[in-house]
Amino acid sequence: MTYDMLLLRFGEITLKGRNRNRFEKTVYTHIKAVLKPYPKVHIIREYGRLYVELNGESAEELTQVLRKVFGIVSVSPVRVCPVDLDAIIETALDFLSERELPEGTTFKVNARRVWKAFPHSSQEMNHLVGSPVLRAYPNLKVQVKQPEIELRIEVRENGAYLYYETIPGVAGFPLGSNGKAMLLLSGGIDSPVAAWAAMRRGLEIECVHFYSYPYTSQLAKEKVIELTRILSRYAGRIKLHLVPFTEVQTSFVGNGQDNMIITLMRRAMLRITSALAERSGALAIVTGDNLGQVASQTLASMNVIGRATELPILRPLVTMDKNDIVNQAIEIGTYETSILPYEDCCTLFVPKSPTTNPNLHVVERVEASLERLPELIEAAIAATETVIIKPDTDISRISGKESREPVVQEEWF
Ligand code: ATP
Ligand code: MG
Repeated sequence: MTYDMLLLRFGEITLKGRNRNRFEKTVYTHIKAVLKPYPKVHIIREYGRLYVELNGESAEELTQVLRKVFGIVSVSPVRVCPVDLDAIIETALDFLSERELPEGTTFKVNARRVWKAFPHSSQEMNHLVGSPVLRAYPNLKVQVKQPEIELRIEVRENGAYLYYETIPGVAGFPLGSNGKAMLLLSGGIDSPVAAWAAMRRGLEIECVHFYSYPYTSQLAKEKVIELTRILSRYAGRIKLHLVPFTEVQTSFVGNGQDNMIITLMRRAMLRITSALAERSGALAIVTGDNLGQVASQTLASMNVIGRATELPILRPLVTMDKNDIVNQAIEIGTYETSILPYEDCCTLFVPKSPTTNPNLHVVERVEASLERLPELIEAAIAATETVIIKPDTDISRISGKESREPVVQEEWF
């Protein structure tokens, strides 16, 4: 199929006035960024929509790229012609000549006159274009309800647009239009999906990953960098904070409260993340928590863990089914990387029976008894490395010198 242009429609039509303007400008900037590798295309901005002139680039490829831009509700590959009845008919005939039309293919024309000075109404256009089309293609049979081919024609002042398809986009809010949050990124399936969901809602995210070298390997760290790289396709660039967590984590081991260790670790993660958030001006923390999935994700655990920070914790996946999360991960492209078998610092130190119902007072008492904890937390913050990841980042360039093999974990419990 040959197309001249892509027509992109914006979402959240409830937005008005200045907000709407800002919204559209942000989407425009995002689109300009994702279209950088395609220098031939030309973007035209109009109230409520955008046009991308293809100038020979592939409509299929660019549709796939652009439908992932947050704030785009739909994409239609279109043919363009002058606003003139004969030109429109001629273009319609040519457009249909590219399709296979087996005997009995159902069809209708659905015209819309947006430019009211055009001499023929929408209704008239349906007939004026439909009749010559049916004469030229006798295999077509008119059907008003759900035809196999619906040829849409939009008549505007600057041109007439012909198209068949309206391909749904990811919708949501434009990137960064709702502020910034820190995202706790593990190497699992859930947190990258939470990242995407947060970005889709207009949050700019900075990722925070805790690693416990040498108990977690260089490969585990590379996996998280790769996940960030995949996510950066949706954002252009993402900041990733890599926090060395070994000292903090091992300080929780062997004080007689092993069943509480995940709770203690999560609270320490939140404290460190809150400090990083303050530096970055982020106003919330996003996690991949999913209610009931594991011991640390019961309501009681979430409650005790959440009290370690004053920032709101956003859990976009909290009520989702695992199946839906997996499908989402496949769709956004993180699944294959997430299922690589490298260890996460949290799975390393999991006790035989982690508590599902931690007691805040007991947890606070244990924390208070760990005299070096505040100092270790400070040290972890100070030793955090921050890297900026882009879709074309070369991972080997930023990975460190650590061994690719993890040290075999001792018996902790
Ligand atoms: P995920 O698939 O995201 O790892 P999960 O179902 O395995 O989630 P947990 O391992 O209990 O659940 O982690 C819950 C959340 O805690 C994660 O979604 C993530 O936001 C955060 N988290 C866990 N481990 C780490 C880590 N090493 N670094 C940063 N965040 C982490
Ligand atoms: Mg996990």
